[in-house]
Amino acid sequence: MDLGIKGRTAIVCAASSGLGRACAKALAGEGVDVVINARTAETLEEAAAEIRAHAPDVTVTTVVGSVTEPDVREKLVRAAREVDILVNNAGGPPPGDYRDWDRDVWIAAIDQNLLAAVELIKLTADDMAARGFGRIVNITSSAVRVPIPVIGLSNATRAALTNFVFGLVPQYSGKGVTINNLLPGPFDTGRLRNSKDITKHLTGNAVAGRVGDPDEMGAMCAFLCSRHAGYLTGQNILMDGGLYPGSF
Ligand code: NAP
Repeated sequence: MDLGIKGRTAIVCAASSGLGRACAKALAGEGVDVVINARTAETLEEAAAEIRAHAPDVTVTTVVGSVTEPDVREKLVRAAREVDILVNNAGGPPPGDYRDWDRDVWIAAIDQNLLAAVELIKLTADDMAARGFGRIVNITSSAVRVPIPVIGLSNATRAALTNFVFGLVPQYSGKGVTINNLLPGPFDTGRLRNSKDITKHLTGNAVAGRVGDPDEMGAMCAFLCSRHAGYLTGQNILMDGGLYPGSF
């Protein structure tokens, strides 16, 4: 299927590995120029090289730095010039016991997993609307549907982002701009491999018999950003291999 987005430009945040990298690769494979970001220059350049090899005809630009930094967000938007697609993503907050989290810990999580996305939407959505096309995808977590006890910081910040962005949907949906959230269950990435606590909660009842392949999420992201998904907005797309046990 031709996704109809060849020649568009996307910002994909936190894209040197895992789900962000897979989303950037899938978009580039559809002919989308990508501006990718992460804090570590070396791994970001490795990701850029992989994406260029996968999609030699697109432009891959790198912007190093944390999405929590205003100047990094502005650099991302400047590098893209016209932003047609915004994929908001960042590292997940650390697991732990809520009794150990002081204000600084909370603010860091809110900065990274709520405000960075809000600010990037603020920098891009109105211009998308003015041009009549835009796709915003926020990578959140299955924890929005089923909070996971050890990652309270994630449960809280992602639920807040979810409700915030859905409040924006009516403002933009008549203007060609869609806003959707991708909710990963267990996917085979560094985040999952490096946290036994998280793995235990995410895979304890796995019914799919496997964890997700990041490329499966990349493909879903590309479809959500496609011309065909213009009538699909304000949705939480849960990708968890059937782990969630309810109908709604
Ligand atoms: P990952 O493989 O660890 O990759 C995280 C990426 O984000 C890396 O490229 C990292 O590079 C970058 N990054 C981290 N913090 C950043 C920041 N502040 N600014 C810019 N880039 C940043 O993680 P993942 O599994 O793809 O997870 C992506 C998101 O999905 C996370 O929020 C995670 O909590 C969520 N999630 C994942 C799963 C799963 O099963 N994998 C399940 C539910 C939710 P640098 O470190 O160099 O910056």
